[in-house]
Amino acid sequence: MKNVLINKIVEIVVTENQLRSFWKKLGEDLEFETLSNEQLMTLAKREIEEASLLELDSHLIDRGWRSRDEIEGKMIAEDNSDPRFHIELIDTAKEGTPSKILIDRMLELHCENCGFGLYIQDCDIDPSTLKCPKDGGKLSITGNNTKKINRN
Ligand SMILES: [Zn+2]
Repeated sequence: MKNVLINKIVEIVVTENQLRSFWKKLGEDLEFETLSNEQLMTLAKREIEEASLLELDSHLIDRGWRSRDEIEGKMIAEDNSDPRFHIELIDTAKEGTPSKILIDRMLELHCENCGFGLYIQDCDIDPSTLKCPKDGGKLSITGNNTKKINRN
């Protein structure tokens, strides 16, 4: 079978209004206004985890519901604790540049002599045309191509 894998960065937005109604639905006693930045990001993550496919659509940029101006503003907090997510809290009332996420494809090589490891950006290179920068030993590809998500 020839299955196609498309690695795409999906931007999921949970607006303050969506957070408020989700908070109301949870029926918590605390006032929404008292939630900390960290609690708001955790709440957004939970809302997305519990969302139906239809609800998820209302959070996706480029699907007709959410627009880019809803993520333009100043980033006031971020959460990098889960490697599968990058979560930002953006204050749209403040000036700021939207963050950019790039996917970098890297090739991991190691020296058969000394074990020195390195990454290169040219994934099509023949490793036998390169030498270990430490001792000139023979380089081999380590495992498969590594996909690394870099944030600028
Ligand atoms: Zn070496």
